[in-house]
Amino acid sequence: MTISREQLLLRQIEKVKAQLAAVGDLRPGSLSTQYNVCGTPGCRCKATPPKKHGPYYQVSFTRKGKSSSKFVRKEDLAAVRQELKNYERMKTLVDRRIDLATELSNLRLANNRT
Ligand SMILES: [Zn+2]
Repeated sequence: MTISREQLLLRQIEKVKAQLAAVGDLRPGSLSTQYNVCGTPGCRCKATPPKKHGPYYQVSFTRKGKSSSKFVRKEDLAAVRQELKNYERMKTLVDRRIDLATELSNLRLANNRT
């Protein structure tokens, strides 16, 4: 038994919906690592060669046209990395849902015309 393109799309949409519901905690942005120099005279960060302070971890993101960043403690790194990954997965799934929904809509619009 063959299924119609519409039935196939409906199945795929249900699958994407379930995958979206399963996405865990998330946050947008990207992680970067920084090493800093301080103002203390004779500090190791000004030695030759310099031993700069850090690493410091920072997550940068843009929301509603506004860019900001936030420092992340080392012990929170794993959780934040997972949240960033989940955000990317959600975006991929939303794109897929939009593509499938558009194809389904186009199909229905075409079928209704006959
Ligand atoms: Zn220093």
